[in-house]
Amino acid sequence: MPRAYTPSFLVQRFVRQTLNWIFPSNDELCPVCSRLIPPEFAESRPGKRGAMGRLCAFCQQNLALVPIRVQHTRLRAAGRPMMVASALVYDHFVRTLIRAYKYDRVVEIAPFFTSALAATRGAHPPADVVVPVPTAPDRLRMRGYDHVLLVASSFARAEGLPCARALARLGTSGHTRSQTSKDKSRRLRELAGQFVAADLSAIRGRRVLLVDDVMTTGATLVTCAQALYGAGAGAVHAVVMARVE
Ligand SMILES: [Zn+2]
Repeated sequence: MPRAYTPSFLVQRFVRQTLNWIFPSNDELCPVCSRLIPPEFAESRPGKRGAMGRLCAFCQQNLALVPIRVQHTRLRAAGRPMMVASALVYDHFVRTLIRAYKYDRVVEIAPFFTSALAATRGAHPPADVVVPVPTAPDRLRMRGYDHVLLVASSFARAEGLPCARALARLGTSGHTRSQTSKDKSRRLRELAGQFVAADLSAIRGRRVLLVDDVMTTGATLVTCAQALYGAGAGAVHAVVMARVE
């Protein structure tokens, strides 16, 4: 399985955990909503540390109530139909969760997104290999982990499929966080040539299931699918954690 963390992220995490162990803090903030977590509550669930344990009771409860709503979107890539199955709707709380996971290093929420993706089982066409949409190299260096790869590799494991980093992203991310205001043709022009096939043997003649975090216009998925078809993929469909409505 490909590695999702950079070495510097792993070192920083180790140092932080060691410091927390030596100097336990009484003022712990929930990494999702920034509420103060009462110390007696934090101490009462040592078994959950490292899993969802860093989240406040409010966010843990909200997380359990997030509705999984599997939906389909039909796109076209390289003249062929592409089915996209989404697990969540990108509403206020899901957006907060994805931002905390993607930008604020709350990697503990990854299993939640993996199980959301698993709920699309049967809703996406059969596949031979899972391919994550790659994060731009500058973003990967900045964050220290590839948030899509992290979820895609455990999703693939649960599906009994190999996970291959068969795409590479060239250059810097360039665009901003928000794509919602941009129309699809403009996004397609911006993304043209940004993705290239990096591992031909993993995808040639295979049915590929792309994995990405959020689908807005679908332009990223279409661009990735074009690169995969160009490299000889047999079919390309996709699953995403959340869809912007
Ligand atoms: Zn919270």
